[in-house]
Amino acid sequence: MRVLKIGDRGIDVQYLSLALRRAGFDTGGIKDEFDEGVHNALVAFQNNVGITADGIAGEMTYERLMPYLRGYDVIVIENGDTVESIAQRTGTTVDAIRIANPMLESFIPGAVINVPFGFDVVPTDVDWSHELTTYVIEGLKARYPFISTASAGESVMDNELWTLSIGSGIKRVFYNGSHHANEWITTPVLLKFAEDYLKALTLGEQLEGRNPSELYSTKTLVIMPLVNPDGVDLVTGAIPTDSQYYITARNIGAAYSSIPFPSGWKANIVGTDLNLNYPASWETAREIKANQGFTSPAPRDFVGSSPLSALESRIVYNYTLNNDFALTVSMHTQGNVIYWKYLDFMPPRSEEIGRELARVSGYSLEDTPYASSFAGYKDWFISYYNRPGYTIEIGRGTNPLPISDFDTVYPPNRRLLTEALYLA
Ligand SMILES: [Zn+2]
Repeated sequence: MRVLKIGDRGIDVQYLSLALRRAGFDTGGIKDEFDEGVHNALVAFQNNVGITADGIAGEMTYERLMPYLRGYDVIVIENGDTVESIAQRTGTTVDAIRIANPMLESFIPGAVINVPFGFDVVPTDVDWSHELTTYVIEGLKARYPFISTASAGESVMDNELWTLSIGSGIKRVFYNGSHHANEWITTPVLLKFAEDYLKALTLGEQLEGRNPSELYSTKTLVIMPLVNPDGVDLVTGAIPTDSQYYITARNIGAAYSSIPFPSGWKANIVGTDLNLNYPASWETAREIKANQGFTSPAPRDFVGSSPLSALESRIVYNYTLNNDFALTVSMHTQGNVIYWKYLDFMPPRSEEIGRELARVSGYSLEDTPYASSFAGYKDWFISYYNRPGYTIEIGRGTNPLPISDFDTVYPPNRRLLTEALYLA
């Protein structure tokens, strides 16, 4: 993160205020601007941890604050420590420490353990970025070491396409988010679902009326929360405006005056719409989009130079081929709609499961509009496997849906994602 001081603006100021709040130093809300509230909270934090209280967030400050973004701290056990005393000192529970350290039997001084803090890892009131996704994935892995996390590949800007796998079941289920840059609210929705599932599983609680242990033993859920990390970073301001990628994207956007920049950006960072780049009637998609004026890299609707010409869609495609998924859900925004069909394909149980997903979420189950019926991930998945694949258009409003919509958007999708896993 950048060195930050009073007057600075940006998504990293949001993360700074988040970390300070989690550390117990309230900035007066999540801020885009480093104002007096952030400054005062930072000085208090610096005093508290015994570093120079200059009110500037630099290397030393970040070193101390980073655990609050990842949601856990690494602690060296000292003489006389017990799991109870550590839980009390760090504001967490004995259970959380035991789950994060399954091999821990006795407390040997000098041993290093992960101690989860008493708050959730996935924040629901800040804008999203690849960097934050990385912290959250690390944080979930530290809290729940039995999950697997991995990178399926790297984006144009060398950002990982993270995956997170939960479960030991034979049947594999795939949830992906943020194919489209300005639909990034789907990333925290999927990550929060992962966290809720893991909490229910480890605490022995129900998840939307389903038994998480049963889900865990019968299904392997693979989540790729951020398919288009560079595009999301462009939309949320995580890419510096003087960087070459930003400048190139802005130049691409300048030719489309009706599409606001960067908030109207859906494509990957070099202007291919990833969800129009899969090998499922791609030529038809190309013709439709060419007629709409999209024939070269654009903020949206450019299908690419050939199927799978974009790095990120190629990664998702290969990853899918290697995983033999029984069912897939791709999260988009917006409209409160579930799309389940591709051409005349009607995979076994697809309509029936779709109806159930519609019932639990209150969303409507619909046929895909003709102009967006081709070359999407769902379209390819359905036609290649003849298995259920869904596109869920979550929420209502203008993209990008603000993070303040999270609490409205999340509950129906928590039900939907639980049920899709159960029914797969
Ligand atoms: Zn979309």
